[in-house]
Amino acid sequence: MSAANVPYGDLHLQPIAGEWRHGRSPLWLSTVDPYDGDLLVEILQANQSDVDLAYAKAAEVQPDWAGRAPAERAELLLRVVAVFDTRREEIIDWIIRESGSTRLKASLEWAAARAITLESASFPSRVQGRLLDSNIPGKESRVYRGPIGVVGVISPWNFPFHLTQRSLAPALALGNTVVVKPSSDTPVCGGLLLARIFEEAGLPPGVLSVVVGSGQEIGDAFVEHPVPGLVTFTGSTPVGRRIGALTSGGAHLKHVALELGGNSPFVVLADADLEQAVKAAVFGKFLHQGQICMAINRIIVEKPLYDAFAQRFVERVRQLKVGDPHLADTAIGPIINPRQLEGLLEKVARARREGAKPLYQGGVQGLMMGPHVYGEVKPEMEIARDEIFGPLIGLLRADDEAHALALANASDYGLSSAVFTRDLERGVRFARRIRAGMTHVNDIPVNDEAHAPFGGEKNSGLGRFNGEWAIDEFTRDHWISVQHRPRDYPF
Ligand code: NAD
Repeated sequence: MSAANVPYGDLHLQPIAGEWRHGRSPLWLSTVDPYDGDLLVEILQANQSDVDLAYAKAAEVQPDWAGRAPAERAELLLRVVAVFDTRREEIIDWIIRESGSTRLKASLEWAAARAITLESASFPSRVQGRLLDSNIPGKESRVYRGPIGVVGVISPWNFPFHLTQRSLAPALALGNTVVVKPSSDTPVCGGLLLARIFEEAGLPPGVLSVVVGSGQEIGDAFVEHPVPGLVTFTGSTPVGRRIGALTSGGAHLKHVALELGGNSPFVVLADADLEQAVKAAVFGKFLHQGQICMAINRIIVEKPLYDAFAQRFVERVRQLKVGDPHLADTAIGPIINPRQLEGLLEKVARARREGAKPLYQGGVQGLMMGPHVYGEVKPEMEIARDEIFGPLIGLLRADDEAHALALANASDYGLSSAVFTRDLERGVRFARRIRAGMTHVNDIPVNDEAHAPFGGEKNSGLGRFNGEWAIDEFTRDHWISVQHRPRDYPF
């Protein structure tokens, strides 16, 4: 039996400063399958001294890692891709069991993580310095581009494997060393599994550490630590704000990349292909139970199409299969944890109190929540203002195109968005007036390609991931000038 056929073991341990061991906190973390409640792994968590050790080791080994030839770092990433391929089923199975993902979503997540790893393998040879002319006689002016040093990565539970890898792969490819803090809901997919994969691919010890612990216990220590020169955070806007304040307003100034919440509008103009728009809306809303930062959060339909759209949308939503996420035809699996479900049920109650019209209400059993659809939603209602992050959606009626645009922009968030119209250039004109980092014409707002800029405006964050934008995020310019002959000084 080859090593790849033996599933990884010991995922209750953490790779801290080059050694797989227990954390030093007295607190245990139990990770359970949100679908059937099965206990998956029990982890003795990391404490602040573990964070210290992980960062210290990362700083120690970083010069050696950065000094490796670009081809050596690229080859490491390519071997990681090979491990992804041989362990595809094992990885997908972990994503299903730990994060309640349907088989379809877990496969998409595996593919997205693979794509950014492959893209990152090109980064070592794409980093470019520059030579600049100088106004000073005899001076040579160079700009070197190199790694930041040590990067701290904090990731959420909804796409844990991909969203950790989206920072980890570029950071390592570009010569940084990394410490990851995954979400307490998904310590395996968001960190430990990836560490085993990189280890199998030959990453030297200490270049990557993973510390498992709650944001409350080790969050501030992780972010404020003097070693990391960059913290990348993917998660909610309130926590992101705090991390922004600690990194750029605290005792230590450091770079920060914030990928935060969203409230994606999905706009259907009156000339849209109705059937295609409905199909897209159902998938773009309910994939992963709506627990995606880019998921459709508001459906805005121009008046002439509103009634027909609402009717067809509900007809399709009724057919969605809710249940066991392992089954290939399941569309909607469990909500991640009881706290999230409780929040969603409060949103349902509030939508009704505020006068939204119930069009369809699926059942709720355990952590399984069927789709809930509301019509005649107004922009001031909570269901339109807040990020929903669940299988709940409101339809807003727009008087005309200008009103649709005003509704689309009536949000503090600006991550992704979409517009449907048969006139593609009208779609592009509309898209350019939406204040968001990403807008898709005749498609869903949920799109992520490893070579295209990913990120948000307004309260959805700072910075961009993927492609050349990731090269910018994970490296820094260093201007070095050389004075070839003595310079005259005024005094
Ligand atoms: P969250 O903000 O609660 O947690 C994210 C991570 O931050 C977790 O690892 C958590 O342990 C950690 N954390 C919590 N408090 C912390 C603190 N004080 N200091 C340091 N770390 C702390 O988010 P979540 O519930 O895990 O994820 C859902 C949210 O993430 C949604 O708002 C969603 O829109 C957003 N999200 C954004 C993107 C994006 O790319 N823009 C992608 C996925 C999810």
